Amino acid sequence: MISQYIQSFLEKNKYSDFELKAVFFDMDGVLYNSMPNHAIAWVKTMQELNLPFTEYDVYMNEGRTGESTINAFFPKVYNRNATKEEIQSIYNTKSLYFNQLPEAEPIEHVYDFLKLIKNKGLEIFLVTGSGQVSLLEKLNKSFPGIFQKEKMVTAFDVKYGKPNPEPYLIALSKGNLKPWQAIVVENAPLGVRSAVDAGIFTIAVNTGILRDEELIKEGANVVLPTMKSLIKNWDL
Ligand code: CA
Repeated sequence: MISQYIQSFLEKNKYSDFELKAVFFDMDGVLYNSMPNHAIAWVKTMQELNLPFTEYDVYMNEGRTGESTINAFFPKVYNRNATKEEIQSIYNTKSLYFNQLPEAEPIEHVYDFLKLIKNKGLEIFLVTGSGQVSLLEKLNKSFPGIFQKEKMVTAFDVKYGKPNPEPYLIALSKGNLKPWQAIVVENAPLGVRSAVDAGIFTIAVNTGILRDEELIKEGANVVLPTMKSLIKNWDL
């Protein structure tokens, strides 16, 4: 099923060939079911400031920096941007609430998909805006034998981050790959935008609460509801 969408992708991007060598994975909402915790923490923090920020807004803004997220909503109530100190304080509160929640579990069946990709001899890259220091350790615990330090793009590698194509362009460069040699698996509108603007075939797995339309709008080549359906439809 996925292969059916490759031809129109090639035509649209004026590529002559598709030669899959690597799959790029986003982390939050793709590897880990961490978005419900982010949503709880953000909504609670913003409610205390009387800021109109819904669970849907959290999912729509997934991947944006804390500062940019806060300033997309703060002026609606306070008629000005938040100061640096206010942003820090709001972000600290959000982190505090987030850290009180139980650690997110891996997304159902994602390890099966990772193993399938690895068994096909394809390279696996992680491309995330996360800046956790012990990330590789955590990944190795959840998904043994899959991830490698030199095949990761994290907050420490980027200047702009998603929705800028930068993180995916860095992944291409780290892997010495062309855009027609990779596929991205994303879950969020800004992540899809980043991958599509990097010129890469993008599969959105809609693991959250958004309408599929939000992911199609940003250019996703395929939208699927679950990892199980991705495994079922993987014919590359
Ligand atoms: Ca994500």
